[in-house]
Amino acid sequence: MISLFDLGGKTAIVTGASTGLGRGMTLALASAGADLVLVDHVECGGVADEVRKLGRPALPLTLDLSLDGSAAAAVESAIRGFGKVDILINNAGIIRRAPAVDFSEKDWDDVMTLNARTVFFLAQAAARDMRKRRYGKIINIASLLSFQGGILVPSYAASKGAVAQLTKALANEWASDGITVNAIAPGYMATNNTKALREDPLRSKAILDRIPAGRWGQPEDLQGAALFLASAASDYVNGHVLVVDGGWMAR
Ligand code: NAD
Repeated sequence: MISLFDLGGKTAIVTGASTGLGRGMTLALASAGADLVLVDHVECGGVADEVRKLGRPALPLTLDLSLDGSAAAAVESAIRGFGKVDILINNAGIIRRAPAVDFSEKDWDDVMTLNARTVFFLAQAAARDMRKRRYGKIINIASLLSFQGGILVPSYAASKGAVAQLTKALANEWASDGITVNAIAPGYMATNNTKALREDPLRSKAILDRIPAGRWGQPEDLQGAALFLASAASDYVNGHVLVVDGGWMAR
C-alpha cells in the first residue's frame, strides 16, 4: 500500500514555497520522492537546499505570481527544467484585513488576483501539459473562509470561496483527462498569514477556544493531506475540499 504514496519520477510545482504551509508541503513531496519546482516572489534558496538534503533536485524560481503571464512562465520554466509537470500545489496567497466600509480597491484587487485569478491560470497552464500524459494532480489551497465569512477579510473570503468553486469546476472538466483537482482547506495554522491574529490576545483566545484539538495547526499538519492528494492514493478523488482544521468546522 505504501507505494500508493510514492512520488518517485514525478515533478511538482509548489507556489509560495519559501515559508509556512508551502514549505511544509514542499518537504512532504520531496520526502516521497518528487522533484520540486519552488515558485515565490521572494527567494527560496533555503527551502531548495532542504529539498536537496532530502535527495531530490530543486528548481527555485523567483516570480511575482500576481503579474500577468507569470503563471505560464512558471509552468514553462518547470517543463524546461524537468521536462513535465505532474503535480501543482496552488498555495501562494495573501490576506488583507480592514472593515468592509473602508476596504480599498487595491486590497480587493491584490487579494483576488493572487488568490483566485492566478490559481486558475496556473491550473490552466499545468493542465495543458498534464493532459499530454493523461495524468496530473492539482491541489488548491482553500480556507475555512471558503465556507465561512470571517471577520474583516472580505476579499480573502471572496477569493477562497472562488477557490473552492473553481476546484469543482476544473475537477469536472479534467477528470476524463486523468487529472484530479482537489483542495485543502486548512484551519487556523501558525504561519505569517495568521501572525496578527495570534498577536491579538482576544482573537487568539476566541479562536483557540473554538478549536476542538485545542491548538493552532502547524505546517506539518498539512503534509499528510498534501501527499494523499498528490499521489495515486487519491486517483478517484475529484473536486473535494479536504478540511484540515483540528475540528473547527465540526463544532
Ligand atoms: P504565508 O504568508 O506564510 O505564505 C504565503 C506564501 O506565498 C509566502 O511564501 C509568500 O512569499 C508567497 N507569496 C505571497 N505573495 C506572492 C506573490 N505575489 N507571488 C508569489 N508568491 C507569493 O502564509 P501561509 O499560511 O503559509 O499561506 C499559504 C496558503 O494557505 C495561502 O493560500 C493561505 O491563504 C492559505 N491558508 C492559510 C491559513 C493559515 O491559517 N495560515 C489558513 C487557511 C488557508
